[in-house]
Amino acid sequence: MDLSRRQQYLRAIGVDVWVSRNGSPVADAVTSGAAAAVQSGPESGVAAALTWDSLKREVLGCTRCPLHKSRTQGVFGVGSREAQWLVVGEAPGAEEDRRGEPFVGRAGHLLDAMLRAIGLNRSTNVYIANVLKSRPPGNRDPKPEEVAACMPFLLQQIQLLRPRLMLAVGRIAAQNLLATDLPLGRLRGKVHHFGELNTPLIVTYHPAYLLRTPADKRKAWEDLKFAHSVFQGLHPPPA
Ligand code: URA
Repeated sequence: MDLSRRQQYLRAIGVDVWVSRNGSPVADAVTSGAAAAVQSGPESGVAAALTWDSLKREVLGCTRCPLHKSRTQGVFGVGSREAQWLVVGEAPGAEEDRRGEPFVGRAGHLLDAMLRAIGLNRSTNVYIANVLKSRPPGNRDPKPEEVAACMPFLLQQIQLLRPRLMLAVGRIAAQNLLATDLPLGRLRGKVHHFGELNTPLIVTYHPAYLLRTPADKRKAWEDLKFAHSVFQGLHPPPA
């Protein structure tokens, strides 16, 4: 991507100065933090029966937790099922609940701009899903029992997609994927690994937080550049 286009995207997300990262963050920052196990191969009985369509049907009809009573509809996920990137957010908000698609409100517009700044687009090369598939009333934080009920759906999406890199946006996604209570600030800036496939996972701020705290957009941009550099450094090289 040429510099002027990238700067245009950066202005759109509120970061107007190009900041280059010194050194080799990838080599310095690799840690292992894998938490939840994901069934990984076709040898698994679950994998044999699992398809995107059957999983989507199950999510849309799910009554595993009381959130199904207050939601308008379940919000499954969006993007390319061939994507090498998976972005994981927290839970649908009001607009997502109404439209049945993740990240379509104000925070979603910012997320799209952030992703575009590193060459990603929800309709072609990234998949976007949430920890919760149903909206918590009033956008409150998910309860642990809601996460426990819903997490298997996200794990199955990961199993189907087999992403090469995961980006957790916000504390709720990061802490639940990594099974940790560490604050978001301690989780940023390093490569974690997720599940049996050791999928690299990088943590950044939630776009709704960035809308409230624009001063941190610059740090989010550092995170995105970091994620992009990790992705570029994968072996075999990304398609
Ligand atoms: N916030 C999220 O975490 N996910 C959405 O889909 C929308 C807002």
